[in-house]
Amino acid sequence: RCLNVINDESRRLERTVSEVLSVSEIEAGSFDLRRDDVRLDDLLEQLRVDHEAKAGQKDISLRFDLPPKLPTVSADRDKISLAMHNLLGNALKYTPEHGQVTVTATVGSGQVAFDFTDTGIGIRREDLSRVFDKFYRATDNRVANITGSGLGLAITREIVNLHGGTISVESELDKGSTFTLTLPITEKDA
Ligand code: ATP
Ligand code: MG
Repeated sequence: RCLNVINDESRRLERTVSEVLSVSEIEAGSFDLRRDDVRLDDLLEQLRVDHEAKAGQKDISLRFDLPPKLPTVSADRDKISLAMHNLLGNALKYTPEHGQVTVTATVGSGQVAFDFTDTGIGIRREDLSRVFDKFYRATDNRVANITGSGLGLAITREIVNLHGGTISVESELDKGSTFTLTLPITEKDA
C-alpha cells in the first residue's frame, strides 16, 4: 500500500511539473506543434486503456461511442493525446462513484467532434466561463477536496487552438458536464 501511495504521488508530481513547464512554454511562445499523421482510432483505444483502471476503482461505467472508422488527421499526437487525457481525467475525477462517463466521436464535414460527458458534480454557471483560465478551479467545496492545480484545461485549450479546433463546455450543477473538442479534417486527411 505504501508503494502505491509513493507511486501515485510521484506520478502526480511529474504531471504537475510537466503542466507548469507547458504553461511556461505557452507564455514564452515556444509551445509548438510537431505534426504527423495521427490515427484517431489508435489514439482513442490508448485513451480507453489508460483510464479503464481509474474508472473501475470508482465503479464508473466508462463507455466509448465511436463510429466504425475514425479518420487519420495531421496533428501533434502527444499534444492531442494530452488534451484528451485532461478531459477524460477530469470527467473521471469530478464524477462520484457509480457514475457514468461517455466519450462520443462524430465525424462531420470538415471536422471531427469529441464529447466527454459525465454524470458528475457539474459546474456552476458563474464558474463556467473561467474553467479554461490557468490556475482557475471552481468555487465548489467538493473541488477543493480533490487535488489539482487548475492548469489542465488551460493547456488543453491552447493545444486545441494551435490545431485550429474548438473547445466548449455545457454543464449543470449536480447533474454533470459535457466538454466538446473539435478538430478540423482537411482534404489530405483520410
Ligand atoms: P489539473 O491541473 O490537475 O488538471 P484541475 O483538474 O483542477 O487541475 P482543470 O483541469 O484546468 O484543473 O479544470 C479546472 C476546473 O474546472 C476544475 O478545478 C474544476 O473546478 C472544473 N472542472 C473541469 N472539468 C470538470 C468536470 N468534468 N466536472 C466538473 N468540474 C470540472
Ligand atoms: Mg484537470
